[in-house]
Amino acid sequence: MQRRATALRAAGARIGFVPTMGALHAGHLSLVARARPGCDVVAASIFVNPLQFGPGEDLERYPRPFERDRAELEAAGCDLLFVPPATDMYATEARTFVVVDELQDVLCGRSRPGHFRGVTTVVAKLFNLVQPHVAVFGQKDAQQAVILRRMVQDLDWPIELRVAPIVRDPDGLALSSRNAYLSREERREALLLHEALGAARARLAAGERRSAPLCAAGVQVLSRGERLRSDYFEIVEAATLAPCDPVRGRVLIAVAAWAGSTRLIDNLVLDVRDDGVSDAEL
Ligand code: AMP
Repeated sequence: MQRRATALRAAGARIGFVPTMGALHAGHLSLVARARPGCDVVAASIFVNPLQFGPGEDLERYPRPFERDRAELEAAGCDLLFVPPATDMYATEARTFVVVDELQDVLCGRSRPGHFRGVTTVVAKLFNLVQPHVAVFGQKDAQQAVILRRMVQDLDWPIELRVAPIVRDPDGLALSSRNAYLSREERREALLLHEALGAARARLAAGERRSAPLCAAGVQVLSRGERLRSDYFEIVEAATLAPCDPVRGRVLIAVAAWAGSTRLIDNLVLDVRDDGVSDAEL
């Protein structure tokens, strides 16, 4: 992969890159489209990264429909697919990790210790292998996008990071490879994550700016799900992930909950001003 990327660069090609763990859906394919402008070659990777899974998480059962993924990427206009085996990515004697301090410890980092260290380490390695000019990530994993943007800035990578909006099912459920685990009842209750974000947004639009009642409005919606267990519902500054109270400026409203044994996340990015609330980007 590295030789190929070096040759492409030497020939003057600009490389766009979409890292994934496979089990692709329309959300992933939207990233491929987002990588295209300004790039001559769009590369994707499929790598179920063992380093970002905790003990007891779903590494073994994570879906791996490789042939379908490959066909969908090809149909979406992806030019190059990189699928390294885990044994190639991690030598047993490897001792180097990339850590984005503090940002990795909040929100999802609290219930998934080591997760973001796994993400930043693998993305750093993928950047060195694929050598992209542009890399595209989804707002679906908002904390991941903020952390990777910090990493790119802190380590002086000459890479333009693009964050693409969340692609949802028509009923509002954010697309996720993990939705495949949900029973019919769990899927119905999973919709409450999106509804909870909407409830907080409605309170914001009505003028509430204190974080506690806004989050309580979200948690109350989640509590309607019998099979749903809330992990967190928080409002933070979008750029820094720092707590934000009173809520103003560009904020991230983020929610995580287990539906049965499946952990789901969703979020909203809003621009909150004295005179109103509007959609914003990460
Ligand atoms: P994953 O395969 O889950 O690691 O995701 C690969 C990339 O796709 C990440 O940048 C995700 O944020 C992004 N992604 C996942 N789900 C969605 C979605 N529903 N909409 C947009 N991007 C997504």
